[in-house]
Amino acid sequence: MTKFIDFSGQSLPAIGQGTWYMGEESSRRTQEIAALQAGLEHGLTLIDTAEMYADGGAEEVVGEALRGRRDRAWLVSKVYPWNAGVVDAVEACERSLRRLQTDYLDLYLLHWRGNIPLEETILAMEKLQQAGKIRRWGVSNFDSSDLSELLAEKGGEACAANQVLYHLASRGIEFDLLPYCQQKAIPVMAYCPLAQAGRLRHDLMTHATLNEIAQQKGITVAQLLLAWVIRKEGVMAIPKAGSLAHVAENAAALNIELSSEELSRLNEAFPPPSRKMALDVV
Ligand code: NDP
Repeated sequence: MTKFIDFSGQSLPAIGQGTWYMGEESSRRTQEIAALQAGLEHGLTLIDTAEMYADGGAEEVVGEALRGRRDRAWLVSKVYPWNAGVVDAVEACERSLRRLQTDYLDLYLLHWRGNIPLEETILAMEKLQQAGKIRRWGVSNFDSSDLSELLAEKGGEACAANQVLYHLASRGIEFDLLPYCQQKAIPVMAYCPLAQAGRLRHDLMTHATLNEIAQQKGITVAQLLLAWVIRKEGVMAIPKAGSLAHVAENAAALNIELSSEELSRLNEAFPPPSRKMALDVV
């Protein structure tokens, strides 16, 4: 059964599409556009990008991919922390919208916490919302203390998502951040769900237990990693895929269920945290 995630009353497939490193090489552009469009066909509706990626180049790729089909996608972009003030955020968002060839974002995230006071960023987000430029706003790379500070600010409870690093070999958020987000009904968007195809953890893709389970289920290790991330209520994964084969594989992971025995084996190989850990970032 396809897994979904609830974004304040709007249900979306629990796997979306990342875009980091897209828009960097002109030789890969056509393939990147085709991959994003294929992802939409496969039901990977949410597309995650940022003004940071390829210095706006990733947003341009997304804009091209969505030409004539904007209404089929749920678009997320992110603002640099130093652009998250009342005046600068509006300008940064307008630049993103131009590159994305659209007039609104479904979700706008503060990429990480910087020096601008949270209350000012909230005001900026509210202004963008009132102008119809963004439907919702949220944050990224916020640990539990940052999030509770945000939620204590006036208007902070409108925070619609927290995008953080989460994969099988980096489970720190399970100790407190994830339960906190679940309790507050704030969706968690897991970035690097494939640990960047193992680049962040070299033993991951080749790990014996993972390969054994994947083989027994007739799936790939990447699919196992994605099915594992989205097993939890309120968590979605945003893998980046630059090829049609990877996109199709990732979309199929929406329907993969892991048994309690498989989950126990994965817990043995990659134990859940038993204490508070600092939020992992890339
Ligand atoms: P991922 O864990 O998504 O890994 C991406 C890598 O995995 C690419 O090399 C891709 O190769 C490969 N891949 C994709 N699908 C498969 C598959 N089925 N089998 C094998 N390999 C596969 O890492 P990202 O860093 O890209 O994270 C995902 C997204 O999260 C980013 O693109 C970005 O949108 C967001 N992000 C947000 C951050 C934040 O601070 N908020 C930080 C980092 C990421 P190929 O391209 O060849 O398909």
